[in-house]
Amino acid sequence: MSRMWIVKIALVAVFGLVIGVAGAQLYEHRHFDTPIVAGPGVTRVAKLSDYCPTLKGTTGDTNVFFLESGVSGGTALVIAATHPNEICAALTAFVLVENAMPEQGTLIVIPEFNNSASRATWPGDGYPLYYSIDTLWGEKTFRMGGRGASPVDQWPDPDVFVHYPEKQLLSYIDSRNTNRTWPGRPDGVLTERVCYGAMELIRQENVNVVIDLHGAETMFPVTNCIVAPDKSVRIAAMASLTVQMQEHFANHVEPSPLSFHGLSHREIGDYSDALPFLLEAPCPFLDQPTGPKTPQLLLDGKDAFLLSLAQQKRLFVPYTEEGWPIEKRVGQHCSVILEIFNQFSKRYPDLSIILSDAPKYADLVENGLGVYFHDPSQAAPDGIYYE
Ligand SMILES: [Zn+2]
Repeated sequence: MSRMWIVKIALVAVFGLVIGVAGAQLYEHRHFDTPIVAGPGVTRVAKLSDYCPTLKGTTGDTNVFFLESGVSGGTALVIAATHPNEICAALTAFVLVENAMPEQGTLIVIPEFNNSASRATWPGDGYPLYYSIDTLWGEKTFRMGGRGASPVDQWPDPDVFVHYPEKQLLSYIDSRNTNRTWPGRPDGVLTERVCYGAMELIRQENVNVVIDLHGAETMFPVTNCIVAPDKSVRIAAMASLTVQMQEHFANHVEPSPLSFHGLSHREIGDYSDALPFLLEAPCPFLDQPTGPKTPQLLLDGKDAFLLSLAQQKRLFVPYTEEGWPIEKRVGQHCSVILEIFNQFSKRYPDLSIILSDAPKYADLVENGLGVYFHDPSQAAPDGIYYE
């Protein structure tokens, strides 16, 4: 055998080894599930495909948790992991499902809205595959997701994404972004079917309030805020002022742009009777000028580059050596959700939505996040679901 052939075979073997090892890790990540322990408030668990049958059997299908009080009132839907790399959202949803008790009305929670995106991370950007949170019973491990549906599930991308039904031209990458594909359609691409399923859920379950949870870069002005269209803006303003005054964290209201289509806070309000709100909390991990994208940065938000930028007043949030720990971000989301329910209930008493046992900002800062996750090994098997 010539020397050239030996070199070629060796190169193919090395290439195959790299692909095999990396592929096995990505396969394992895609199929890794995190258990969620249904709390005492959970009365039933449906699937999004119950509202959009074309999702059945696809990675777009996802769990829908119902927490029904049995007392006449309003209905709220909380959507998390529209962008799964904004981890404070899904963690807030887990905390609500595992702990909240509905006292009046109904709470519906979708913890992994863009389930496909939660199963494809960004190795090219140095993202970790997993992160873990300390609990009273050990570590709870979560998948680290990306921002758009996995190309394994939705591919190829169009040259230009044409929004349905407004025909607005959007970036090709937005076809895989479930915050650009509202209100969706049952026969569209996977992300359009996911949004359509949620629109049907909102219409069929007579949902009054929809809250879409996110996290944002500290260098992006739309952070620490509630994004709301005209129909929701009074309640958003009252909720924002109240959390600032009573719970002492920064928050403001951003108007939902009228002419930018596909966004949850625009289309949900236009295509249903519900009042939509989109919540942003800081997520320093997402900023570009940071050190290595480690699980530690994901959780504590501490970064020397961001601290230097904060000292130059380049950030849109207060930022110190403390970083921006995950407890604060989840706490902010919990408190803003509860205050939106409170303000909505004041305005529409017959449609009140009242929860107990859901922690607020001060509780999470004091107790940490782990105490709100229950040990799956101690839970009844029929009370465990996988996300
Ligand atoms: Zn987002």
